[in-house]
Amino acid sequence: MPVQFFDTYTRQLETFRPLDPAGKAVKLYTCGPTVYNYAHIGNFRAYVFEDLLQRHLEARGYVVERVMNLTDVDDKTIRGCRNLGVRLADFTKTFKDAFFADLDTLRIKPAQAFPAATDYVERMIAMIADLVEKGIAYQAEDGSLYFRISKFPDYGKLAHLNLDELRPSGRIANDEYEKESVGDFALWKAWDEADGDVRWESPWGPGRPGWHIECSAMATALLGDEIDIHCGGVDNIFPHHEAEIAQTESCTGKKFVRTWLHNAHLLVDGAKMSKSAGNFYTLRDLVEKGWTGREIRYALITVNYRLPLNFTLDEGLPGARAALGRIDEWARRLAEKATALPSAAPAELAALVEGFFTALDDDLNISGAMGQLFDLIRDSNRALDAGTLDDDAAAALLAAWQRINAVLCFEADAVAIPAEVLALVEERKAVRAAKDFAASDRLRDAIAALGWVVKDSKDGQKLSPK
Ligand code: AMP
Ligand code: ZN
Repeated sequence: MPVQFFDTYTRQLETFRPLDPAGKAVKLYTCGPTVYNYAHIGNFRAYVFEDLLQRHLEARGYVVERVMNLTDVDDKTIRGCRNLGVRLADFTKTFKDAFFADLDTLRIKPAQAFPAATDYVERMIAMIADLVEKGIAYQAEDGSLYFRISKFPDYGKLAHLNLDELRPSGRIANDEYEKESVGDFALWKAWDEADGDVRWESPWGPGRPGWHIECSAMATALLGDEIDIHCGGVDNIFPHHEAEIAQTESCTGKKFVRTWLHNAHLLVDGAKMSKSAGNFYTLRDLVEKGWTGREIRYALITVNYRLPLNFTLDEGLPGARAALGRIDEWARRLAEKATALPSAAPAELAALVEGFFTALDDDLNISGAMGQLFDLIRDSNRALDAGTLDDDAAAALLAAWQRINAVLCFEADAVAIPAEVLALVEERKAVRAAKDFAASDRLRDAIAALGWVVKDSKDGQKLSPK
């Protein structure tokens, strides 16, 4: 079965075919965080899903080029830096750095590029100027520029919206009254006092870009006019992604995105986790409570991305801890048994390994894939218990686990060996060379007392945590 995804634009499962004529390279754009605060685990649900997407495509032989933007200028970042009386760049740097550290904690593969919006303002201005020239953008009385959605017939198709609902009926008492139509969205916001010293010069006076044009500019600058996959949470569909399509396609005349993928929300008591609702946990909150990055990754990644994930502290994370313990124990048993070169795994176990990957081919069906993995663990544990799994078959399963783990990244962190244990191992090497086996046994006990097991093999001593 080829890889297939549920495309938000067509609302159908579609066979995945990249633009690359060789069928190998995949251009992936993912909307990144607004760096005004620490990201919460709802945001990280989006980034973990995108990581699963990237890693599964790579497991299937694709070469993924991923770009994730950082929104480092908008109302929230400006408010944040002005409240603290610091420069915008200094304010956002703290949260950019925190974001990269958090990605690392969650074992999310870094994108090839993390463009920051403030580095692309010139390109945004050039795109807006193009839209003005084409009669698609207009300047309102306050100096701001808007996109005239009536000039883009496909507007609303991604969100499957009825545009009549966006037409004004009677007087509209909001601060967007200067727009020709309520649906028109801002491309450029004229400077006002609340912006302080955050301003760029433009042909239309000082101001700053709108959020939507930021992504259009960065995506096309780094990936070109056409990209394969664009992701974000469902809240990004409208207006953000709808606006990205309208702006980009009006500038380039080409189809911007082949496949749109959107993750459902992470919920708390049935409501979207969000900063504004105040019902959020940052990654740091959970790490402080004693949960590890891989446990949080497990809890976020193992629910199918199009299903809402109801997050509770007393269910998802303890479940993740137990499941990872089971996986660790299985991998440890396999490693212990795998002392020969890998052969083919028994057919019924090999089928479960392939079942893991084919489940993911089906719109990243992770619950199906995890079902196959746990069947594999159960059945191979039984064979190990019964003594019917040969060393070379265990080695083949261990290699299969490494392939699976390249997608999941669930393997336990390697534990650093303490210096005093290493010193005892060295001493033991010397006494063994001198054939003093009584001393060697005493040292083995001393090492065990420090929590480490030492085993002798033909390649020397092998250490593992108890
Ligand atoms: P923001 O910083 O609000 O622009 O969000 C960054 C990314 O996180 C976007 O792709 C959002 O759609 C996504 N996101 C925000 N809140 C949630 C949530 N509660 N669950 C899942 N994804 C979310
Ligand atoms: Zn975006």
